Amino acid sequence: MHSTKAMAPRAVALIVALLHERADVDAVARVLLEYGERPPLDLTPHDVETMRLAAARLAGVFARVPGGLCAATGCGKPYLDLGGGSPRRYCGTRCATRERVAAHRAAHP
Ligand SMILES: [Zn+2]
Repeated sequence: MHSTKAMAPRAVALIVALLHERADVDAVARVLLEYGERPPLDLTPHDVETMRLAAARLAGVFARVPGGLCAATGCGKPYLDLGGGSPRRYCGTRCATRERVAAHRAAHP
């Protein structure tokens, strides 16, 4: 996971996670671990705050934040949205399907 190809999704996931108001040590550590960092990370809230400031500057470079956090209940994983087609709300088809089924059940009890 240290190829250049892996770096872009990792950077975006991190920025998306950092810019979200729920960003805390756990959320940031989760992204780092998912993208190949090895524990222990020894992240402090101060580290996260520093990273947040850097991410906020970077976000100014993008026209918009190129992703979001999965809207599925209990997921919240960052996803990359490269545009083209309808805007994404979920990290993957599994979450999208799960939420669609849940919405359908709620609408047709
Ligand atoms: Zn998800």
